[in-house]
Amino acid sequence: MFEFNYVKAKSLSEAQAFVAANPDAKLLAGGMTLIPTLKQRLAQPTHLVDIGGLPELRGIEVKGTQLVIGAASQHHEVATSAVVKKAIPALAALADQIGDPQVRNRGTIGGSVANNDPAADYPAAVLALDATVVTNKREIAAGDYFQGMFATALEEGEIIVSIKFNIPKRAAYEKFPHPASGYAMAGVFVAEGAKGLRVAVTGAASGVFRWEAAEKALAKKMSVDALEGVELATDDMNEDIHATREYRANLARVMTKRALQKLLAA
Ligand SMILES: Cc1cc2nc3c(=O)[nH]c(=O)nc-3n(C[C@H](O)[C@H](O)[C@H](O)COP(=O)(O)OP(=O)(O)OC[C@H]3O[C@@H](n4cnc5c(N)ncnc54)[C@H](O)[C@@H]3O)c2cc1C
Repeated sequence: MFEFNYVKAKSLSEAQAFVAANPDAKLLAGGMTLIPTLKQRLAQPTHLVDIGGLPELRGIEVKGTQLVIGAASQHHEVATSAVVKKAIPALAALADQIGDPQVRNRGTIGGSVANNDPAADYPAAVLALDATVVTNKREIAAGDYFQGMFATALEEGEIIVSIKFNIPKRAAYEKFPHPASGYAMAGVFVAEGAKGLRVAVTGAASGVFRWEAAEKALAKKMSVDALEGVELATDDMNEDIHATREYRANLARVMTKRALQKLLAA
């Protein structure tokens, strides 16, 4: 680990001013991704600005037709929140499947969405639920937010304050976890909202994506057999020591079927 200074921000405006004045400072939330990165000397920030306890980034509430989750909410809080369980039970179930108890007690939804790991779970829910990422500067639609592997629309120093999820009629999440980390080898969130059914796939490709061919097939007939033969390009899938492209594409297809079965039974 390289040396750095630790700063605990007392307010969102203080954190904002600090990162603006120190371009090599980094925001710290749960540290579940950032600390291992520092340990491996893959980043050398001058300061870590701790935003984990900021009151502006906390709170889980329903506002009209949306569920608003503060960026500093830990995965365990989302998984066990009565508000989330009532509004979007599939989102609580997703949070409950992230990593292990240690990770769920420290890691935050804002950190996960900011990091945009291609195998992270939350991005699938954010995209399928057509959510909005609220920052200290603006609101970003999910469709514009995710820009590929670890890439997002966030500008340098921009801070996620909350995520606004549209409450769906029904939704479900299914993932095939990597046996060691729990990260998704393929995870699929399906959500039936006001504009129809959306299918978002994480873990299988370089970033979360909507499986639009499946959405079209399901718009005609919402049943598992409607997915038979629907095209899913294997060229775009990840290939590594854990799985071939074809295996990942098949996993995505199987997870979609399972998620749909769950949604239809809800
Ligand atoms: C062993 C292990 C297993 C895991 N398994 C899974 C899994 O199964 N599924 C899964 O989805 N994830 C998994 N994770 C990742 C975990 O969910 C992390 O919590 C998450 O990736 C990062 O959240 P954090 O709060 O710890 O962020 P940090 O590590 O503190 O920060 C991560 C990055 O986001 C930035 N950041 C943090 N908060 C904000 C904010 N509000 N606004 C802007 N930028 C911000 C930081 O500057 C940093 O660049 C795992 C992690 C570990 C260590």
